[in-house]
Amino acid sequence: MEFDFQEKASSSSDEDEVARHSRAFSKNTISGGSTAGSGGGTAHGPGVFQTSNVHELLECPVCTHSMFPPIHQCQNGHTLCSSCKTRVHNRCPTCRQELGDIRCLALEKVAESLDMPCKYASLGCPEIFPYFSKPKHESQCRYRPFCCPYAGSDCSVTGDIAKLVMHLRDDHRVDMHTGSTFNHRYVKSNPRDVENATWMLTVFHCFGQYFCLHFEAFLLGQAPVYMAFIRFMGDENEAKTYSYSIEVGASGRRMVWEGTPRSIRDSHRKVRDSHDGLIIQRNMALFFSGGERKELKLRVTGRIWKEHQSQESGACIPNLFN
Ligand SMILES: [Zn+2]
Ligand SMILES: [Zn+2]
Ligand SMILES: [Zn+2]
Ligand SMILES: [Zn+2]
Repeated sequence: MEFDFQEKASSSSDEDEVARHSRAFSKNTISGGSTAGSGGGTAHGPGVFQTSNVHELLECPVCTHSMFPPIHQCQNGHTLCSSCKTRVHNRCPTCRQELGDIRCLALEKVAESLDMPCKYASLGCPEIFPYFSKPKHESQCRYRPFCCPYAGSDCSVTGDIAKLVMHLRDDHRVDMHTGSTFNHRYVKSNPRDVENATWMLTVFHCFGQYFCLHFEAFLLGQAPVYMAFIRFMGDENEAKTYSYSIEVGASGRRMVWEGTPRSIRDSHRKVRDSHDGLIIQRNMALFFSGGERKELKLRVTGRIWKEHQSQESGACIPNLFN
């Protein structure tokens, strides 16, 4: 049994709504994003539709978010979500009539009966969920877009890794390197000037993946410190399959950090605040810089490698490929 959920109904008369409710009961697996699209694009199985009026029906007309119980309606049947209800001073935003306290049980039942695709279906997620458990999945969905890993500003760009790499290169002018080893020199003319805002980001491309090397200065309590760490541009479970080392030193002394890159799902600030990286006291950094401690001149070297998982080969073999 198939219905055309792409049909675009602008009327919201009671008759229409009843008709649409009963359709939803008849066929309760629908597909598509929350936006009313043209119907083209992503691959779905046969009999699955791109956009749905049922989904539109479950969209709060005030805030446009999906509605969850209790769903309210005015005396004329206009629906709205419970958080909007508390904000509209008991007036229906659609017809300005008094709102009262009427639940829209029919719509709640419709929602209960629905299986909905993850809202990241267009990004590749094949999962379908009962309406009410959808938000929980979507907050953890591995297809959900990543946030821009740039640390210096509140950048709001999101997307998949390929898009973010282009964005870092073109919009933030980030240094891009290919290879799994690095040898960087960080120079700062006034090392007394340690502020939270001092940071640097370099992107590495190796093993077919992208990694962000962060270097920054901040105050740890009262103490000015420098910190270097690596984040993996991808999900946590994949980040764990890599390791990295960072080393800094001079004059026969050196500090080495060996760690697992954190996913860029963890914010730059979160990683920094958990001290998950190489932390260098300023005095030590100035010592490593040589000269007259007037200038910060740190050579930071390091390496990224892939950990061999025993289930892959049955045994641990040394990595010969870097
Ligand atoms: Zn709302
Ligand atoms: Zn109304
Ligand atoms: Zn998903
Ligand atoms: Zn950005």
